[in-house]
Amino acid sequence: MGYGPPNTVAAMRRIKAEGGWGVVNTEYCSIHPSADDAPYAFCTLWDEDDVACQALMTEGVHEFGALAGVELWHGGSHSPNRLTRMTPLSVSGESLHLTAPIQARAMDKSDSRDLRRWQVDAAKRAKRAGFDLVYVYAGHAYLPFQFLSHRHNQRSDEYGGSLENRARLLREMLEETKEAVGDTMAVAIRLAVDELMGDHGITADGEGREVVEMLAELPDLWDVNVSDVDQDSKSARFSDEGFQEPYTAFVKSLTSKPVVGVGRYTSPDRMAGLVRRGALDLIGAARPSIADQFLPRKVEEGRVQEIRECIGCNICRSGNNEGAPIRCTQNPTMGEEWRRGWHPEVITARGSDAHVLVIGGGPAGLECARAAGQRGYRVTLAEASTALGGRINREATLPGLATWTRVRDWRIGRLHDLANVEIYLDSLLGPDDVAELEADHVICATGANWRRDGVGTATHFGVAGLGDAHVLTPDDILIDGAEPTGQVVIYDDDHYFMAGALAERFAAAGHTVTYVTPAALASSWTEMTNEQHFIQARLIEAGVAIVANRSLAAATGDHVRLGCIFTGREIEQACDTLVLVTSRRSRDTLYQALAASGTKGLQRIGDCEVPGAIVHAVHAGHRAARELDAVIDPDMPFRRDRVTA
Ligand code: ADP
Ligand code: SF4
Repeated sequence: MGYGPPNTVAAMRRIKAEGGWGVVNTEYCSIHPSADDAPYAFCTLWDEDDVACQALMTEGVHEFGALAGVELWHGGSHSPNRLTRMTPLSVSGESLHLTAPIQARAMDKSDSRDLRRWQVDAAKRAKRAGFDLVYVYAGHAYLPFQFLSHRHNQRSDEYGGSLENRARLLREMLEETKEAVGDTMAVAIRLAVDELMGDHGITADGEGREVVEMLAELPDLWDVNVSDVDQDSKSARFSDEGFQEPYTAFVKSLTSKPVVGVGRYTSPDRMAGLVRRGALDLIGAARPSIADQFLPRKVEEGRVQEIRECIGCNICRSGNNEGAPIRCTQNPTMGEEWRRGWHPEVITARGSDAHVLVIGGGPAGLECARAAGQRGYRVTLAEASTALGGRINREATLPGLATWTRVRDWRIGRLHDLANVEIYLDSLLGPDDVAELEADHVICATGANWRRDGVGTATHFGVAGLGDAHVLTPDDILIDGAEPTGQVVIYDDDHYFMAGALAERFAAAGHTVTYVTPAALASSWTEMTNEQHFIQARLIEAGVAIVANRSLAAATGDHVRLGCIFTGREIEQACDTLVLVTSRRSRDTLYQALAASGTKGLQRIGDCEVPGAIVHAVHAGHRAARELDAVIDPDMPFRRDRVTA
């Protein structure tokens, strides 16, 4: 959430401390306006106002006996400085052209002196703000790492050439930070020990290891990871829990200082194993602490089955990439602690003796029934099919998405603990059934269906000739088990995971697959979840032909016509099965019938109201339960967090 909403950030992190985390860190926190990552959410320690804002967080964290840490950061050539318009800086003068049409000036001696002073000044401000740990941040290819890296560092002075020279700045920053605040605060280093690019980068058995050897006892804490943000926080589709261990496990053998590492750890056994094996002393967690701020407390109290495990979907990252506050698929209260007053574990008791009927057991209905049940309402949850889970039951069967079942399973587990919730499977409700149940609140969470008329982002009025083509939708494939035949064309006008994952599945099953999209990239929105690069690489490796910048103009029995989105010129593509992944239509017939008959307490949530991602459905379900019998201003349903002084 960055430097913008201080109360919101403080409340979110205070709850992590309440949930038992030993140290609660900020995100990357800029030491100086020449490190400005706008429009991404970064926090700042530039002045005394920032000190006051950060103090809100440290006070909250200290309330529960946890330590507060700050990741002091300078991005160097990562920071085009769109907000501050200060000159971007870098180790040797680099182009930022992929992110902005400006280059970063090579730092001279006075710049490196300034940088060290900014680090020390920010560390002193951190001390005034009440932090217990300060970082020297050499992870994620940021400025001190750029000095280390032989790819970035082309200098011929004492900061370039040998590894000792390239590590000089890092050593100076550590020594000077320790000198400034080390008597009362721990000074941590974050270092990417392997860039996952072989000899082109730093490796765990090469210079990564040598740097740790060189600086072994200098920091008070080693925080080690791999590569840049994309690699370090890979989604579950592209990495397993603990995938960093082979790269970082060596560090402990070279230092007597404690070592912390990350790896999307959600299994307490796995975490304990790491410590027992001597691979790490401390488990670092960003996403697991977002999905469940109370994970450590649940371990401590023997309630491990209650841990709401991160599914590795990277929706949390999408907030950062979109310049929007954080949100989480598993944890609907994330980011809502202050503005809506939502606590992840505590919920207001029911406001009446009302009977709540929830229709549909997908993510929206499950979360709504669970939260309403937790409030103490008498809840009836009716699901048409033989199993709870809705879309999860289908989507989690796609390649790499098995962890998504955690959205369903965590909620089913909690529902079974609630005696006041009754669950009916195989119960396709119609308007008469609903009337008979005489509920006070009727919540339709009946989901959505994929369209088969081609209407999506690029095509607004449907596609000619679809009647003659062999068309399949994701529902045909994932619900009814339909299989494509012959030449398969997947048309993606949805742009999230579905079409790319289907292409991967069909290619693995031996089909000849052409993936067509009006966007420039496959599964283009997944740039927001840092997955796009990996998806496109996987499709290419699987032999999927990718046709970009073309929309579906027409279809026939054995081919489709694809129009260039710039010129309109069309080409033909052989096609025996056309898979349309375009958009969805709410399954709201029941809701409309109930609305027409004046059903009291009626509302619709999740995909039934508006098709979206799972994160939207879970949030909608939670919100509906929270707001039962509550007085909420519909025009301004939350507090706004602004500094007005
Ligand atoms: P969401 O993501 O909004 O939760 P899903 O599509 O995942 O939506 O889930 C909707 C669920 O509602 C599905 O499991 C579906 O079987 C169920 N459903 C749809 N219509 C009815 C109905 N009339 N009665 C009971 N369940 C229904
Ligand atoms: Fe995990 Fe997804 Fe939540 Fe991020 S949004 S913490 S990846 S469940």
